[in-house]
Amino acid sequence: MLTRRTLLLFTASISAVGCTARAQTTPSAANEARFGQSLWRDVTDAQWRERLEPLAFRVLRQEATERAGTSPLSSEHRHGTYVCAGCGLELFRSDWKYDSGTGWPSFFRTFSENVATKEDLLLFTPRTEYHCARCLGHQGHVFEDGPRPTGLRYCNNGAALRFVPA
Ligand SMILES: [Zn+2]
Repeated sequence: MLTRRTLLLFTASISAVGCTARAQTTPSAANEARFGQSLWRDVTDAQWRERLEPLAFRVLRQEATERAGTSPLSSEHRHGTYVCAGCGLELFRSDWKYDSGTGWPSFFRTFSENVATKEDLLLFTPRTEYHCARCLGHQGHVFEDGPRPTGLRYCNNGAALRFVPA
């Protein structure tokens, strides 16, 4: 019988797998051709901890999710580019941003060559998690309930992004 305790233990073990699986994120061949040799892949956790704000470190390097409605980037409406808060790689244009009503910065398109994805089973429902293809920092999850023309919703942690005004 599945007790609450075994369920919790099961969740914890899945969660542990989720953390170690970060290294197994499988960037596409195109990702790897571009970024496989990048020095950003050699930055250690200790170095990341020094470079990043605490929340950005938890999101990018430990796959945490920021609380909904807490990112100032949700209400950022200027023209510009959203780059990885870890390594500065361009991930989104402001033209691709929309208000999803979720409390997280949301986009219907990304620079796909700069993003790597993997299946995430943390919530028992597979979700596709995506990472910066260069430093492999965790950004967010992509869902298939976005607006036209792509139908995609890239639900991104604001702490994992930096906005660069045009
Ligand atoms: Zn990055």
